[in-house]
Amino acid sequence: MTVLEIKGLRAGVDGKEILQGVDLTVRSGEVHAVMGPNGSGKSTLSHVIMGRPGYEVTGGSVTLDGVDVLALDTWERAQAGLFLALQYPTEVPGVSVEAMLQASFEAGGRDAAEVPALVGAEAARIGFADRFLGRDLNVDLSGGEKKRNETLQLGVLAPKIAILDELDSGLDVDALRDCSRRVEQATKETGLGVLAITHYTRLLRELKVDRVHILVKGQIRHTGGPELADELEVDGYAAYLDPEEPAAPAAADPFADPFGPGPFA
Ligand code: ADP
Ligand code: MG
Repeated sequence: MTVLEIKGLRAGVDGKEILQGVDLTVRSGEVHAVMGPNGSGKSTLSHVIMGRPGYEVTGGSVTLDGVDVLALDTWERAQAGLFLALQYPTEVPGVSVEAMLQASFEAGGRDAAEVPALVGAEAARIGFADRFLGRDLNVDLSGGEKKRNETLQLGVLAPKIAILDELDSGLDVDALRDCSRRVEQATKETGLGVLAITHYTRLLRELKVDRVHILVKGQIRHTGGPELADELEVDGYAAYLDPEEPAAPAAADPFADPFGPGPFA
């Protein structure tokens, strides 16, 4: 049994506090959804857990089975069993997905010779065409293909806890079903614990959620069961916002418009 425990987490960028005391515990086999308006700090939470440079942690703790995650380098967090499927997967010219996974296996003392067969098996499981596998990591892949690529990496690496930052954005209906089903299977097969950031219940059709948390302005304002996700889809976040606070305007989906604003617009 693995436990990711986030306690009173406060973090920000350039002196601006974005996370204002987040408490969240994810155990093996559990699926937690984090939902919330644009700009509420969902991606920041995922980045801070994984150790993306540029964020300053100003309070609280993150532990994985009691180990202080915040004291580890990002690669050490990955080796400890944390995985992040990025909202905007990074393109890495010159490095194939297989080479990246082999390097990860080697760093973790696993047999890198197993990687090609595992990649093939995972690609088949989620219907990811072989022709993508030889390409440089995420280069020349569509938004949806990048998300399948993230899911493939999750399948091969078999982490203990996966954070999925809007895995559903950019995926068509079939890809969404394949990817969310694969993650659900991992919760059963390897006891994967999941923290799924999403705006839509469609991700949660195959991926069976245990708890739904509403993040507003860097704080979890409310937690409920699966029914909460359905309520939010109908009623929106209005009931959870400050009365004086107008709902944030919807940010442009960068996958919808390649010339649109970047992720922090
Ligand atoms: P969400 O994923 O919930 O939409 P984010 O975590 O991406 O929200 O962003 C929360 C807030 O913090 C936004 O106002 C965003 O502009 C700001 N922010 C996040 N990361 C950075 C960064 N690296 N530099 C500057 N501002 C950032
Ligand atoms: Mg985000």
